[in-house]
Amino acid sequence: MSRVLIVGAGLTGSVCACLLRRELQNRVQIVVWDKARGSGGRMSTSRPPDPCSHTADLGAQYITATVAYAKSHHSFYSELLSSGVLQPLIARIEGMRQTEGSKNYVAPGGTCSLVKHFLSQAGAELFFDRHVTGLYCRGASWEVQRKAGDRETFDAVVLTMPVPQILQLQGDLGQLLSIQQREQLDSVVYSSRFALALFFAPDVNFSFSWAARYVSDSSCIRYIAVDSRKRNADSPGLGPSLVVHTSVDFGLQHLDQDKDLVQPVIVEELQRLLPDLPQPISVKCQKWRYSQVLTAVPDSPGHMTVSDQPPLLLAGDAFTHSNFDGCVESALSALGASLV
Ligand SMILES: Cc1cc2nc3c(=O)[nH]c(=O)nc-3n(C[C@H](O)[C@H](O)[C@H](O)COP(=O)(O)OP(=O)(O)OC[C@H]3O[C@@H](n4cnc5c(N)ncnc54)[C@H](O)[C@@H]3O)c2cc1C
Repeated sequence: MSRVLIVGAGLTGSVCACLLRRELQNRVQIVVWDKARGSGGRMSTSRPPDPCSHTADLGAQYITATVAYAKSHHSFYSELLSSGVLQPLIARIEGMRQTEGSKNYVAPGGTCSLVKHFLSQAGAELFFDRHVTGLYCRGASWEVQRKAGDRETFDAVVLTMPVPQILQLQGDLGQLLSIQQREQLDSVVYSSRFALALFFAPDVNFSFSWAARYVSDSSCIRYIAVDSRKRNADSPGLGPSLVVHTSVDFGLQHLDQDKDLVQPVIVEELQRLLPDLPQPISVKCQKWRYSQVLTAVPDSPGHMTVSDQPPLLLAGDAFTHSNFDGCVESALSALGASLV
């Protein structure tokens, strides 16, 4: 039986794992490694330190299906809607730009529940705190090195992390890339931004009625959401959580600063925008160095094959575009390549 390693328990990795299982059933052993302590990647949902508040989506906020993707990815949408992982967005989002005919969805359990859904379908062996640092070709297999020092062997590997993190890997990857592939990967550009999650006590009520708002009069803050309102998931007894995304310009300007130093700057601006905001119980700050893809891999079919034998594929939103459908498109494209 072939042993396939998928690096990254984000949306692309989880859809790859799920599709691989559906295609090959019990003829493949699927292993997923992620360096983080949980699944989700940029679709991460943060838990409050004190469980009396709602969770908060620090990355992706809602899913927008264009008319074309609603059709071509119909099976994915109907699976997620029928299982309750996705629901139509009904809350009011001020300043949201809407493309004609497109539909918006939210994940009541947080966007990480999309990733968890596909991982649970994959029947994969899932390991966290597994930071891949190198890949070495050993005959018909890949020897994969972890930060902890040990190495494990796989018949095929799919890397789904952001491109700059792929390019940092030691071993044989660099030599196997053609000059053209290297140039394509080097041309990928990501935006950067900070995200804050503010967790409040159960007796807190906000004075505003919107669920989320795009901010146009601040150079620091671009988006604010009352997370449980946004995802139709208000539950009595739990305090609200507020999510704040900074602008890309602000993210770039403060990219190399410690997030603990940037957090008070964002909080001060939030207080200016929402002067009546009550005091949160706790605040979490996330730096998204690789937030959304601004320039994707040019002329990409959705993935890149670095080696046919043993198979080594690169996938992720950098090979398509940064959203739910981009990740699904990349996973479908990767699975079209021969892995086992
Ligand atoms: C702030 C923000 C807002 C967004 N808003 C939306 C939105 O509203 N709607 C939408 O559809 N999309 C949105 N997106 C984009 C969407 O989140 C991404 O396109 C998608 O999550 C990318 O998934 P991925 O699996 O390709 O990559 P990732 O989610 O980045 O997954 C890669 C995984 O690889 C792991 N990893 C990295 N390096 C290593 C290593 N060396 N070893 C092991 N593991 C490693 C990481 O921990 C990560 O879990 C947003 C993104 C951000 C950051």
